[in-house]
Amino acid sequence: MYMHIPKSNIKPLWPDSSSGTQRLVVLGGAESGIGAAILAKQKGYEVFLSDGKSLKPNYKAELESLQIDFEENGHTEAKILSADVVVKSPGIPEKNELVQKIRTQQIPIISEIELAYWYKGEAKIIAITGSNGKSTTTSLIHHICEGAGFNCALVGNIGYSFAKQVAEDPKEWYIVEVSSFQLDDIVHFRPHIALLLNITEDHLDRYDYKMDNYIYSKFRIRENQTEEDYFIYCEDDAIITEHLKIITLNTNTLTFSMKHEIKKGSYIKGGNMILKIQEERVSMSIYDFALKGKHNLYNSMAAGIAASIAGIRKEKIRECVGNFQGLGHRNEFVASVRGVEFINDSKATNVNSTWFALESYDRPVVLILGGQDKGNDYSILDELVKKRVKAIVCLGKDNSKIVKHFKNIVPAIRETSDMATCVKTCFRMSTKGDVVLLSPACASFDLFNNFQERGQAFRDAVREL
Ligand code: ADP
Repeated sequence: MYMHIPKSNIKPLWPDSSSGTQRLVVLGGAESGIGAAILAKQKGYEVFLSDGKSLKPNYKAELESLQIDFEENGHTEAKILSADVVVKSPGIPEKNELVQKIRTQQIPIISEIELAYWYKGEAKIIAITGSNGKSTTTSLIHHICEGAGFNCALVGNIGYSFAKQVAEDPKEWYIVEVSSFQLDDIVHFRPHIALLLNITEDHLDRYDYKMDNYIYSKFRIRENQTEEDYFIYCEDDAIITEHLKIITLNTNTLTFSMKHEIKKGSYIKGGNMILKIQEERVSMSIYDFALKGKHNLYNSMAAGIAASIAGIRKEKIRECVGNFQGLGHRNEFVASVRGVEFINDSKATNVNSTWFALESYDRPVVLILGGQDKGNDYSILDELVKKRVKAIVCLGKDNSKIVKHFKNIVPAIRETSDMATCVKTCFRMSTKGDVVLLSPACASFDLFNNFQERGQAFRDAVREL
């Protein structure tokens, strides 16, 4: 399914070549597409941006002020197929008809992080990928780097375009959250420090429902690394360790685990996180960490290793891991109403993150599940649901798959299709001491624009009770 054009066909710094001005077409005009267009224009490309839907007014204004040619609400094929190189937004799937035509014509397609990489100069990249925990870990690493006085920026999938940052405010370090979709179209992208947090089933709808395609995509984060670089991964993740048996790493590796001691990397022992990068063993009490929960111990270990390699002292790492504020919509406490605790984990858009959220409660849970299914296998949740969940309240346009799967597993199941009704239903079904947990295991796009909007709707509905 993935056609990778040979590296030699895609030379970085194209407009500097002798072949004259290159035409660069950007497909998709959201954050990353606009950033790519801005950077490309600055670097001397003839730029054209095309979006099948309408552009947000602020993005349109940016393009107009920079005199970047664009179209919205449809694509003019001739203007696209005349490109020398196409930057494809991560939201556009490979099977898209236009993408297929571009492939057929052998026009190189790259992602926005690839373009940004070409122009980042001597700056170093710390890149973070995984199925879960990317945003948390990326933000934590950025927080530590900032605390240590690094000249750095937080960019990528987290919501700020890497290319735009390079164009408008270049830094010495970029802390980049990277999704598998962005990795699908890299060519030369080479992080100095690459982190692979975990791999669990997600986005299979974009990978021909083949887990191997998704795994391959995640591992591309290290494909251009050399012996000067570092690759950090989780040793407790069986999918990662299995895949490592069939590939060769050309870089320095460090690992983390909660199950056993690690030679080079990080592990947990007796309430402490141990960092062992060189010979010295540095110990930090996990009770001082701002982020709680088992999953966050993994994220903190990963961040601690990355920060150490970047040269940050242990005192600074300790201080920053202790005062990190965390991000909203991730196991966030909203309110307690007559003894019922409401938790917003709207960011849980796959089954694995819901598993971790459920695992962190030892009280009865009324669980809100549902949204846009991404090929989910709900059976991973069965055991925990049997143990902890007294009711499931579905929130989605089509709840049939969830109802079918759980109807004989939980004592009660209800269907709703708007947040206010959903929250009221949960409240009616709960008693003092229970937790109402929004951890939907699905994307939000059937009823909301994004997970933030879904989380905000939940907060609002809880405050209305
Ligand atoms: P991402 O950016 O990869 O989607 P986030 O940091 O935004 O990750 O967290 C997404 C969801 O996954 C949240 O619900 C959070 O509670 C859960 N989560 C965070 N870190 C991990 C982890 N290491 N393993 C499993 N789940 C996690």
